[in-house]
Amino acid sequence: MKDTHKHQGLRNQLVKTVQSKGITDIKVLEAIGKIPRHLFMDSSFIDFAYQDNAFPIAAGQTISQPYTVAFQTELLKIKSGHQVLEIGTGSGYQTAVLLEMGAKVYTVERQKELFKKTKIFLPKLGYKPKKLVFGDGYKGLPEFAPFDGIIVTAGAPFVPKPLLSQLKIGGRLVIPVGQETQIMTLFIRSGEKSFEKHELSKFRFVPLLKDKN
Ligand code: SAH
Repeated sequence: MKDTHKHQGLRNQLVKTVQSKGITDIKVLEAIGKIPRHLFMDSSFIDFAYQDNAFPIAAGQTISQPYTVAFQTELLKIKSGHQVLEIGTGSGYQTAVLLEMGAKVYTVERQKELFKKTKIFLPKLGYKPKKLVFGDGYKGLPEFAPFDGIIVTAGAPFVPKPLLSQLKIGGRLVIPVGQETQIMTLFIRSGEKSFEKHELSKFRFVPLLKDKN
């Protein structure tokens, strides 16, 4: 688990790339500049880890593209101490970004293999989510609700109702909605029963899966 000057140099380049694509939140950029993304990948993708691309991880899943991670995180408007729920732990990279920004993170993964791996891996780098749960993200985590922010990192065919109901008033849900391609959608809970909805740009995610295997 080595992190060298070479990696730091590549990371600085990645930060510039993400910035050039329109990300301005300094805390998001700092997190990307700090987290050793190459260690979140399966084998030694050292030369690829700091390209702005998604890559395969275990169980047929992917580590999201850094720009996508930055775009979603920026929309959450995280403040230190915010309670944030992540659906789709995957490699744990997005989780690390949220933790770097001072959020208290609850994260759910439905693939056992990834869940086990990431649960052991994250603390080794000093990243400690409040909860890392093996379960079905469609249900959210009602026992730890309400949340200031909820981020879904897989393509959702529809917006799961439990996620909306687990937001605080003023809380934000960032979710890519759609089948083949998804529209990044931001919901802001404006009242007990009211939500503002903003549809942003198109992305392509692995699907949010229904049944556990
Ligand atoms: N945030 C991750 C992205 C992983 S890709 C990262 O940065 O690496 C999306 C993840 O969502 C995959 O790990 C997939 O197994 C998980 N996933 C898919 N359906 C899910 C569901 N219903 N509940 C929880 N996680 C799910």
